[in-house]
Amino acid sequence: EIGGFPYAPGASVGPDATARESSPVLEATLRHAVAQGEFRLAYQPIVDLRNHRTVGVEALIRWPRAPIGPDVFIPTAERIGLIRDITRQVCLLAARDRITQRIPGSIRLSINLSAADAETMETAALLSDLSLTLGDTALSVELTERCLLSPERCGPVIRAIRARGIQVHLDDFGTGYANLQSLVELALDGIKIDHRLTRCIDDSRAAREIVRHLGRMAGALGLSVTAEGVETEAQARWLSVLGIRRAQGWLFGRPCFIEDYPAARPLAQIA
Ligand code: C2E
Ligand code: CA
Ligand code: CA
Ligand code: CA
Repeated sequence: EIGGFPYAPGASVGPDATARESSPVLEATLRHAVAQGEFRLAYQPIVDLRNHRTVGVEALIRWPRAPIGPDVFIPTAERIGLIRDITRQVCLLAARDRITQRIPGSIRLSINLSAADAETMETAALLSDLSLTLGDTALSVELTERCLLSPERCGPVIRAIRARGIQVHLDDFGTGYANLQSLVELALDGIKIDHRLTRCIDDSRAAREIVRHLGRMAGALGLSVTAEGVETEAQARWLSVLGIRRAQGWLFGRPCFIEDYPAARPLAQIA
């Protein structure tokens, strides 16, 4: 296998995906990728729905030589203890790319953390370094509720992160069991409404009422709200009507590498 990828393409689809995701081949290839630094970051804009201006950008990890996405390899990396190394590389890549310098205005950069990151103080130090490197750019981290299962362990880390002026947002909001409880136990800065909920707002009055009330609840708690996975104009219009101000999704821009990131997005393109 010279230069190829020793792991079946399409592994992330099909009924036996789970079996193949746990393959020793993937694990070994992933270890190699971490050692060799084979990852890159793709960036996706987060916009203000009132004027479609970019207010933030989320860094999403990519493994260019592999035919699989982070939905497949991040859980494997978490399971075999590689995620903290990967998060360290993500921070270095973000510091090197400095994507926000290419976007006009004051832009917030978001990166994703895993449970193991949320449970070690080293993460606060790592993020603090990144934040200093980025200078003017505000930094946010996104956590899923799975990161917050152990408030005794992640509470001090999250407080340390926030004490450094870095925002903490709860990702995939509206899909789990415990994320309301997370908001009771921890002071956070924002929530990201999961794409599965966004996808339903066109067709479902229930989804619209839930989003409307999430917006109100967040407002009352001083939390920002970002809706993910916005693909259509109709969804964007509904979100505005429901009082949601920030959105992310293919309608506004696909995740792309820094060299492909649109230098300045004409408002007319998406208006
Ligand atoms: P996430 O944090 O919820 O990221 C949003 C996912 O939705 C991304 O998938 C993004 O490409 C995709 N997406 C964006 N807009 C749209 C849209 O309009 N429609 C649809 N259908 N999808 C959209 P991606 O990049 O494959 O990442 C998947 C997950 O992998 C992320 O979900 C996150 O949980 C995890 N992940 C990604 N990068 C990192 C990372 O650097 N570190 C860690 N720990 N996890 C990461
Ligand atoms: Ca995220
Ligand atoms: Ca999400
Ligand atoms: Ca997700």
